[in-house]
Amino acid sequence: MSIRHHPAETTLIAYAAGHLDEALSAIVASHLAVCPRCRGRSRLADGIGGELLDSAEPATLRDDALDAVLARIAGAGPETAEPAPRAGRHGVAAPLGQLLPERLSDIRWRTVGPGIRQARLGETGRDPEGLKLLKIAPGRSVPRHTHRGHEMTLIVSGSYTDELGRFQAGDIADLDGEVDHQPVSDTGEDCICIIATDAPLRFEGWVPRLMQPFVRI
Ligand SMILES: [Zn+2]
Repeated sequence: MSIRHHPAETTLIAYAAGHLDEALSAIVASHLAVCPRCRGRSRLADGIGGELLDSAEPATLRDDALDAVLARIAGAGPETAEPAPRAGRHGVAAPLGQLLPERLSDIRWRTVGPGIRQARLGETGRDPEGLKLLKIAPGRSVPRHTHRGHEMTLIVSGSYTDELGRFQAGDIADLDGEVDHQPVSDTGEDCICIIATDAPLRFEGWVPRLMQPFVRI
């Protein structure tokens, strides 16, 4: 699996500090399971996250936070080799992978727009707040949109391309309210992704905006 797109540094720090909600955390955990580079970065983020938790004001880093972290790492002795978390079903780690059926073809999709289908994760069990599955038919696009909050997309299969590049299995698109994008599924196969949001997407055109209450993507 060649991963090109990773969570932002600030996202890894927020994850380590426990500031991400459940849906966003599940996406980060799944990415960490398949990305050695981010596992390394998250060890550093763990230290910074610890400093954030220790700080009297959680929203701000003390001036000496990074020095304290580096000192802590330097004093930690030889790094113990952590076993890599196992990538689970369809390359998606637990707990998200367990919410996917054994065969992706068993997912019950419903059409929400031209070439776009959506499904609930964990149809038969618990449906986690803020998580959904999206399938984009080859060559089709998701309506252009920005975000009110934090959105993270984990690619499960296929690929799409938008203003930020090409995203394939294991990649994460880590987007905040500043990003305005229009993902287009690459031709050849459906692109299936898991999307976690902490606020609804905001579509640009009036037609998708009208659709939004029904589509709920
Ligand atoms: Zn990564």
